[in-house]
Amino acid sequence: PLHGKTALVTGSTSGIGLGIAQALAQQGADIVLNGFGDANEIKTLQAALMRNYGVKCVHHPADMSKPTEIAAMMAFAAEQFGKVDILVNNAGIQHTETIEDFPVEKWDAIIAINLSSAFHTTRLALPMMQAKNWGRIINIASVHGLVGSVQKSAYVAAKHGIVGLTKVTALEMAHTGITCNAICPGWVLTPLVQKQVDARAAREGLSDEAAKKDLVSEKQPSGEFVTPQQLGALAVFLCSDAAVQVRGAAWNMDGGWTAQ
Ligand code: NAD
Repeated sequence: PLHGKTALVTGSTSGIGLGIAQALAQQGADIVLNGFGDANEIKTLQAALMRNYGVKCVHHPADMSKPTEIAAMMAFAAEQFGKVDILVNNAGIQHTETIEDFPVEKWDAIIAINLSSAFHTTRLALPMMQAKNWGRIINIASVHGLVGSVQKSAYVAAKHGIVGLTKVTALEMAHTGITCNAICPGWVLTPLVQKQVDARAAREGLSDEAAKKDLVSEKQPSGEFVTPQQLGALAVFLCSDAAVQVRGAAWNMDGGWTAQ
């Protein structure tokens, strides 16, 4: 159903972004990957997407903390495919520390990567979407766009901010064929979360397995991680015609975290 569409997914060389890129490619969308990593591994990811799903796939290494690099990435997508139809703002980092000890440069980096980058990609993608009167913008927020947790001031602020940006984008586009929604995942076992598992294991003298179990069950009633594949399926739904009236939503997929 997404044949002929171009999807740009920021931070898609790993974790949730990669799962969403795979799900969109499976539906036939051409893919612009973005994110850091080993050049050969990224080439392998690109080749796998092209081979498995028969789509085109390019990669741009723009650093999402740098507006000029973001603009270069959007121009590259336009040059490669003539347009961006689906924009998934997913790139994100985490740092945990109490507010009084939070490094100022980490605050600035988290706000830039997890929040401001989505403003820049969105402002540059909208004219391309408006030209076709079709578009889907999906912002990967978090349960931390809806509730707080200790030691995550910058992350929670950025994620609440992106939920707000999602609402305004949806409202400004309300009379068009362009929708904007946020997805709010609970715990997903990606490298970003593995770091928090490792810290817990070290702090409490637990095995990797026990630390994972503790981390998930503390907040997530299902006791199970959400998977990048499940989030990919939700993104595919939000891109479908059936989802055209889903606008400005912050859709949690969190094993019950925010139902408590
Ligand atoms: P991850 O560390 O596996 O992947 C992050 C991706 O972003 C990688 O491709 C990385 O190269 C890229 N990236 C990091 N900094 C970048 C920068 N400056 N410029 C460009 N790319 C950059 O993390 P993940 O867990 O897959 O997280 C993806 C998104 O999902 C983030 O926004 C995160 O906040 C959000 N999220 C994650 C979870 C979770 O439990 N893992 C839960 C809720 C929300």
